[in-house]
Amino acid sequence: EGAAEQSVGGALPVRPEFQGMSPYGAPQLDVAVRLNTNENSYPVPPEVVDAISAALGAELSQLNRYPDRDAVALRAALADYLGVTTAQIWAANGSNEVQQEILQVFAGPGRSALGFTPTYSMHPLLALGTGTTWIAGERTADFALADPVAQVRAADPDVVFLCSPNNPTGTALDLDTIRSVARVARGMVVVDEAYAEFRRAGTPSALDLLPEFPRLIVTRTMSKAFGFAGGRLGYLAASPAVVDAVQLVRLPYHLSALTQAAARAALAHRAVLLGTVAAIKAQRDRIVAELRGLGLTVADSDANFVLFEVGGDQAVFWEKLLAAGVLVRDVGLSGWLRVTAGTAEETDAFLQAVKESL
Ligand code: PMP
Repeated sequence: EGAAEQSVGGALPVRPEFQGMSPYGAPQLDVAVRLNTNENSYPVPPEVVDAISAALGAELSQLNRYPDRDAVALRAALADYLGVTTAQIWAANGSNEVQQEILQVFAGPGRSALGFTPTYSMHPLLALGTGTTWIAGERTADFALADPVAQVRAADPDVVFLCSPNNPTGTALDLDTIRSVARVARGMVVVDEAYAEFRRAGTPSALDLLPEFPRLIVTRTMSKAFGFAGGRLGYLAASPAVVDAVQLVRLPYHLSALTQAAARAALAHRAVLLGTVAAIKAQRDRIVAELRGLGLTVADSDANFVLFEVGGDQAVFWEKLLAAGVLVRDVGLSGWLRVTAGTAEETDAFLQAVKESL
C-alpha cells in the first residue's frame, strides 16, 4: 500500500502495543476514479470557494493572535444546522479528533470501549492510542447488531460505539436499538453519524434521543455530505455537561482561526454544499441495484458507499479494478469490497470495471 505501509518502532522505545504497527490510512494513489475514502466527489462550487476565500482573507492580519478557544461562532452555526443549542455542540479537527477526546475523558487506562465489528477501524485504533481496552462486539451475518443489550451487559464497557450508518457496511440502526443500548449502558454511548445526511427516507438520527439520555453523544462531520474533508471539521452533539467534560482534554486553540472561518463560511452556504447529497444517494442506490442485477450479494446502504461481495479473494478483485483505473477499498473483510458513491460518470466506470473483472 505504498510508502505509508512502513512499520514503526524498531530501536526506538515506542509503547509495546505500537511495536511493528503501520500508520492507519488508505492508499492515496493517483488513479482516475478514486472511490476508496467515502469523500464527496463533487468539488466545492465557485460561489462557496469565493465565500471561503473572503472569510480566510479577513482572518489573515490577525493571525498573530490565537483563535477563539471555544469556537463559539462556529459551534452556534453547527447548532443551528442540527437544531440544538450551542452549549450542546463541540467541534474539532475531524470527528476522529472528537472521538479521541471522548475516549481521553471517558475511557483511557483501566477502562474499556466496545464497538460492533466490522465497524469503523479508527474506533479500535483510537482506543489503542488512548490506552483504552477495546472490546470487539459481534454482528449477525446481515451486519445487524447481534443482541446488543446482552453484549453491552456482559462487557459492561465505559464507552459504547454505535456507528449509524455503519462504515464499512452501510447499515443504519433504528431508534429502538439505540434506546435499548443507552438504557443498559453504564457509561457513555457514542453514535458515530458521519454519514447521517445520506440516510434513506424513514431512517432516523440519534439526535432525536439526546433529550432522553444525558450520556448519549452523536458525532458528525463536514467531511462527507458537506464535501469539506480537506477542511477537517468534525463535531459532536450531546448534553452541555458532556461538552464541559470534553473541554478538559482538548488542546488549547486546537481549531485554527482559518479552520473556524472556512467552516463558518461553508456552513453559511450549507444548502449549496448539501445540494450534492440527493445525486450521491441516487448513485448509491444505482450501485446497489446494478451489482445485485449482476448476481452479487450487496449490503443495504444508508451511506454514500456500498459493501459488496466479490465471490472470491477480494484482494485479487481489488487489483483488477485498480488495473481498470478504479480505486475502491479493501477493508480487510474476507470476500467483500467497499465502493464510494460519487458522480454518475464514476459509477459508470466502476460498474464497467466490475463487469470486466467478474
Ligand atoms: N466516522 C466514520 C464512520 C468515518 O467513516 C469517518 C471517515 N472515514 C470518520 C468518522 C472520520 O471522519 P473525519 O475525521 O474526517 O470527520
